Amino acid sequence: MQPDQATQLRQLESQLAAEYQTILSKKLNLDLTRGKPSSDQLDLSDALDGILKGNYIAADGTDTRNYGGLDGLPEAKQLGANIMGVDAANVLVGGSSSLTLMFQVASTAYLFGLKDAASAWKNEGEVKFLCPVPGYDRHFTICEQLGIKMVTVPMTSTGPDMDAVEAAIKADSSIKGMWCVPKYSNPTGVVYSDETVERIAKLGKIASANFRVFWDNAYSVHDLVDNAPQLASILEATRRNGTEDSVLQFASTSKITQAGAGVAFVAASAANLAGFKKALGAQTIGPDKVNQIRHTRFLPDRSALMAHMKKHAELLNPRFEAVLEALAGAFEGTDLGAWEKPVGGYFVSFDTRKGCAKETVRLAAEAGVKLTPAGATYPYGKDPEDRNIRIAPSVPTVPEVVEAMKVFVTCVKLASVRQEIAALA
Ligand code: PMP
Repeated sequence: MQPDQATQLRQLESQLAAEYQTILSKKLNLDLTRGKPSSDQLDLSDALDGILKGNYIAADGTDTRNYGGLDGLPEAKQLGANIMGVDAANVLVGGSSSLTLMFQVASTAYLFGLKDAASAWKNEGEVKFLCPVPGYDRHFTICEQLGIKMVTVPMTSTGPDMDAVEAAIKADSSIKGMWCVPKYSNPTGVVYSDETVERIAKLGKIASANFRVFWDNAYSVHDLVDNAPQLASILEATRRNGTEDSVLQFASTSKITQAGAGVAFVAASAANLAGFKKALGAQTIGPDKVNQIRHTRFLPDRSALMAHMKKHAELLNPRFEAVLEALAGAFEGTDLGAWEKPVGGYFVSFDTRKGCAKETVRLAAEAGVKLTPAGATYPYGKDPEDRNIRIAPSVPTVPEVVEAMKVFVTCVKLASVRQEIAALA
C-alpha cells in the first residue's frame, strides 16, 4: 500500500464518517427487515370481509361451517392449482400457513414416513437436508427443530449449484431432503432455470430412498413485471422422469390476500398425499373451510388472481426500484457489493465484501435503519463469509425506502473502507 493510497482511504473514511454523523442526527426509525405486505397491499383484499353474505355452501353442497373435508374444498384445491400450476387433484388445502404445512410434512416424513412406517427418516440415524444459501431462515428453523443437520450448497443466478447438489447426494445417503424457493427465491430473487428444474426432478433417481424436495413456491404469482420469467413445471418434469414422489410443493395466499390469515396448499403425488393425510387426520377434524370459500369467491379463477397480483405489483414496484436504483448508483462497477435484480418476490439480497455484513447491519441499526440480522440467511445464523444482507422493502413508504437506502449505502461504504484501513495496520 502506497502512503498516498493510505491517506486517500483515511480521507474517504472521514468524509463517510461525517455523512454518517449527519444521518445519526436525523434520528431515523426505518425498518427493512421482514418480508410482509404493506397495509396498502392488505387493503387490496378488504372485500374478503363479508363476501359470503350468508352463503356458506360450497359448489358440491358442503356446508363450510361444519367439520370435515380434511383435504379441502374442491374449489379451494382449484385455487391452489391456479397458484401453483398443478392439477387440483394433487392439491391438499391446509390451514392458513404454508410454513405450518412444511413443518407438518417434514415431521410426518421424519416420524411416521410419507409412504409407510418403514420409510420414516427417524429409522435411518442421522438425517440431513441440503440448504441452498443464502436461503429462508424459517426453513432452517424447521430443520433445527427436528434435529435435521443442514448441508449448504451455493445459490447461483440460475438456482442452486446443481453440480454441488448432485455430488452431495451421491456422496451421502443420509441426505433426505432439500429446500427450494424456485421462483423469486428468498432472498436472492432468482428464478430457477429450466435446466435446474429438470436436474432437481432427476434427483429422485440418484438420491437414497425417501428423499424429498420441499418446493416452496411462495412467490409463484408475485411478478413485478408484465413479461415475467416462467418457472418450468416441476410436476411435469417429475412425471417425465418417474420421480413424482420425490417432490412436494407448497404455496399460500399470505402475500396475495392477508398474511397469516389466508389459505395454504401442498401439492404432491397421490402416495405422498395419502401418507400425509394419515398423520394430518390425527391432528385435526378438518381445516377452516369458511376461509377457503371466502378466498375462492374473492379469487374465482386464474385471471382474477393475476389481475389482483398486478395491483400488488403496482404498489411494490416503486419500492423495488428505489432499492435497485440506490444500489446501482452507489455500487455498479465497484467491488463493494454484488446483488441480483429481482423482477418479483419480496427481497433484494446484497453481498458486501467479505467480513462487512455484520458491521454494515450494526452501523445501520445505530443510525435507525433496521435490517435483518447478518447471517440470518444461513443455517444456524452463520454466514461463513459474513457477506449477505437481505433487504425487504415492501412495508416502508417509497420516500422511507429512499431514505433507508441512503443510510444503507453509506454504511456499506463505511464498513468497507474501515476494513481496508484496518488491514493496513
Ligand atoms: N416461504 C417463503 C419462502 C416465505 O418467504 C414465506 C414468508 N416470508 C413463507 C414461506 C411463509 O408463508 P406462510 O405465511 O404461508 O406460512
